[in-house]
Amino acid sequence: MLPPPRPDWALFLDIDGTLIEHADHPEGVTIPKNLPDRLIAAQTALAGAVALVSGRTIDWMDRKFDPARLAASGQHGAEVRLAPDTPAVPIPMPKWRAPLEASLKSELASWPGVFIEHKPLSLAVHFRAVPEFGDAVMERVMALGRGLDETVEFLHGRFVIEVRQAGHHKGTAVAALMKTAIFSGRTPVFLGDDITDEDGFSAVRNMGGIAIAVGPRETHQADFHMSGPTRVRAWLADLPVQLVKVAS
Ligand SMILES: [Mg+2]
Repeated sequence: MLPPPRPDWALFLDIDGTLIEHADHPEGVTIPKNLPDRLIAAQTALAGAVALVSGRTIDWMDRKFDPARLAASGQHGAEVRLAPDTPAVPIPMPKWRAPLEASLKSELASWPGVFIEHKPLSLAVHFRAVPEFGDAVMERVMALGRGLDETVEFLHGRFVIEVRQAGHHKGTAVAALMKTAIFSGRTPVFLGDDITDEDGFSAVRNMGGIAIAVGPRETHQADFHMSGPTRVRAWLADLPVQLVKVAS
């Protein structure tokens, strides 16, 4: 049983597989019409302490969730916007990116169903449509990446491998946000569905917070579990109502 929400919570929300259903192609996702309004309502109910923490770019979040604008971390901690009205912290483009992009393009173009997502600070190779190629794809991506720069890091998600500069992850994003005026002193609560969310889970648990795993993936890091995005959205819609109850 999930604990009832409290007004001193700070909410950290993964997007794909948590707020919205996964799609084979990252641009194939559907944003439910009422989701931006629900995010705004939760943000208001928690005095601003709601952040999106995703592998997506912050720019993508702003476009897709308009008119909602939240504190955010994009690209697995590589960019952070500490408050809704401040600019995202810019991070320089890694040197290995352009050559890796070129070799992935020439090597993976022949594999139907494999899709390369170009993010400003990282490259994600998706194989959700052809999971039988997964091991071979990951092996090739890692060989190419390591060949260009020893310091690159590989993030393994469900049917995706992402290449990026080491040192940033969802846990570092949570830590940075928890130091700001909006979030500090609150109990952090992290919702996520994937392997990359484990960094967020351990960050919030280290701060006395709550980790909530979403969807079918097994994890030992989470305190509670929700069945999927439909359940998360219903919970989110109910959150302001529950907080009013707590207050009265
Ligand atoms: Mg996710």
